Amino acid sequence: MITIERLKKSFDDTPVLKSIDLQVNKGEVVCLVGASGSGKTTLLRCLNLLETPDEGRIKIGDKEVSFGEKPISKKDIKDIRKYSGMVFQGFHLFPHMTLLENITQAPLTAKQQEKDVIMKEAEVLLEKVGLSEHQDKYPDALSGGQQQRAAIARALMMHPEVMLFDEPTSALDPQLVREVLKVIESLAKDGQTMVIVTHEMHFARRIADKAFFMDDGYIVEEGPADQVLANPKEDRTREFLALLE
Ligand code: ATP
Repeated sequence: MITIERLKKSFDDTPVLKSIDLQVNKGEVVCLVGASGSGKTTLLRCLNLLETPDEGRIKIGDKEVSFGEKPISKKDIKDIRKYSGMVFQGFHLFPHMTLLENITQAPLTAKQQEKDVIMKEAEVLLEKVGLSEHQDKYPDALSGGQQQRAAIARALMMHPEVMLFDEPTSALDPQLVREVLKVIESLAKDGQTMVIVTHEMHFARRIADKAFFMDDGYIVEEGPADQVLANPKEDRTREFLALLE
């Protein structure tokens, strides 16, 4: 589903991703963990070309793009993005649109389906994330947890092959974290391929198939989530996990 090879990214001559190799298979739930500044968000943003890598290769689905030889085209960006849906820390809903409008805007614009099919699907998804009764409200009338669940529904409306989550609960009050994690967990049960940057280690251990531990621009340990997050082999992973206890 996703193959990343020798990916590098610098900001102002400061290397942030130093040479990343990573593979995600269809239906897998993968967590990226690591200290603040280790490059997790940058890696996730490179996956849908919100950042352009300097070197390396990304293959998602049938699309493959190499970086560093020639500039990437708008078509490359469009082709890569159609495979993924992204959920950010801040929820990034459109403030002037109701929830229903927020989640139907992209598919209605893309016109991949008839309007009534899109509206029906929106209804089903709002039900799935527990927001049916709020569909006509504006984002500022909702809690952070409700907004984040709407952001998840919005990304799902485009039928992404892979969902990318960047610390989806870190901007939420603790009592709202659970409701968002429950929605993500239900997607995992449905077989949705996901890459999740998270500091929620219990959650990661429960739902992830694989975990990647990043440190200083490298993946220093990878393997089954249970093993990497509970019995890591590398000292750096162990030290990081001990800080969270
Ligand atoms: P956190 O857990 O705090 O979100 P992270 O592991 O996701 O951290 P990144 O956000 O990827 O780390 O950042 C890695 C490094 O890259 C940091 O030193 C950050 O300051 C730097 N960085 C990220 N984006 C940019 C940018 N657009 N311009 C300059 N530097 C950046």
